[in-house]
Amino acid sequence: MTQSNLITHVFRKEVLAMSAYKVADATGLIKLDAMENPYRWPEAIKAQWLELLKECQLNRYPDAEAKALVETLKQLIQLPDYFEILLGNGSDEIIQLLLMALPEDSAVLAPAPGFVMYKQISDSLGLKYIAVPLLTEDFELDLPAMLRAIKQYQPRVIFLAYPNNPTANLFNEAAIVEIIKAAQGLVVIDEAYAPFAGASFIDQLNHYDNLLVMQTVSKLGLAGLRLGYLMGRADVIKQLNKIRLPYNINSLTQLSAEFALSNKFFFDEQTQAICAERAIVLKALNSYEEIIAYPSAANFILFKTPPGKATDIFLSIKNQGVLIKNMTSQGGVLTDCLRVTIGTPEENKAFLKTLHNSLKELQQI
Ligand SMILES: *Cc1c(COP(=O)(O)O)cnc(C)c1O
Repeated sequence: MTQSNLITHVFRKEVLAMSAYKVADATGLIKLDAMENPYRWPEAIKAQWLELLKECQLNRYPDAEAKALVETLKQLIQLPDYFEILLGNGSDEIIQLLLMALPEDSAVLAPAPGFVMYKQISDSLGLKYIAVPLLTEDFELDLPAMLRAIKQYQPRVIFLAYPNNPTANLFNEAAIVEIIKAAQGLVVIDEAYAPFAGASFIDQLNHYDNLLVMQTVSKLGLAGLRLGYLMGRADVIKQLNKIRLPYNINSLTQLSAEFALSNKFFFDEQTQAICAERAIVLKALNSYEEIIAYPSAANFILFKTPPGKATDIFLSIKNQGVLIKNMTSQGGVLTDCLRVTIGTPEENKAFLKTLHNSLKELQQI
């Protein structure tokens, strides 16, 4: 058997058809491409954390149920007793767990553009991924189209990112409620950007049997830990726990997350600083006639550049030392769009300066 025959003999056709999720190399660049919190921990907090890590027993397996961490989260969120929490190695793993548990021919539905992992993981499992375009003018849900798709495809899972990535807006709450009511399967409200949004569906878990809410510590400021959590009915979480690998949350993550969440006040300060900077960057972007920057309820901003110029501007900004994200190749409403994560005031100033230079360059061409 030749090498390529071996590959096609062994792997599913869906896997063969995929490409790997690529992460850009940010070496030497100001990194404003991945919605990370730009701030470090205060030195005193870091010292306390290191003290704690000294006691960590890496020779032992982690607590398979991460009981202490689950308790800390439940208290922080004030989750009613009759709901449960599933922990994942990032919310990405939770998306994977949930989709792995579905029957083979299931449909999965989400608006487009949306978070890429919904489709990536659906494809990898051979599920039927249905993308319903958002309205072009304001990236709002196309409710009639969503309801038609629900009726036609009977999706077992619907993902709604709230706020949405990459458009940064919060979808209309009443429209989401209509979708939850119409859905026969589960609706996952993905609240990865909850710290910046001031809005959540956690309080609505009581009202709808098929509602799940997913959050993560990544965008808050702990992207390196890899910890996401899904909240919902105990009997739903119980099914997912069956296919969760027993030690998916390692000891260092359990200890560090519990420590960080117990000292959450400094994240709250950082979140406020990021939201204040978000307003400054949005205003600065919209001061250019050539640019349309869209309102954001997250820690990043999507903006549209002059027709056909997004890649030139992206590369010019990168050559000047700042990495943002080029969205234009995704097409549709993202044509000509770039996405920038809010950094520290200095980083944002640097970004705006490189953008200014790149727009000047363009005019001279
Ligand atoms: C970043 C992001 C995630 C992934 O979060 P992790 O917990 O780091 O895996 C999930 N959903 C959305 C919408 C995101 O933007």
